[in-house]
Amino acid sequence: MGHEFSAQVEALGEGCEGLAVGDIVSVQPCLSCFECDFCKSGHTQRCEKKTFLRELSLEEAPQVFEEMAKDIEKYLKCLIVM
Ligand SMILES: [Zn+2]
Repeated sequence: MGHEFSAQVEALGEGCEGLAVGDIVSVQPCLSCFECDFCKSGHTQRCEKKTFLRELSLEEAPQVFEEMAKDIEKYLKCLIVM
């Protein structure tokens, strides 16, 4: 891992599966389309239409993150447990 942001899980919310307290996790640094063949096969990091978070302008970022929060379950599937 390089520029991806990462953390250690400190607590789990109700219904959270696939993680444990203490897990080291990293977030994929791009927005995937969830529609191409790679995304549909679970390889969102290889998305043909991905946009890297670093490519967002300061004006675009808040709106994009707001949209992501509306469908957070989809983006949490991109979480990588190390
Ligand atoms: Zn895709």
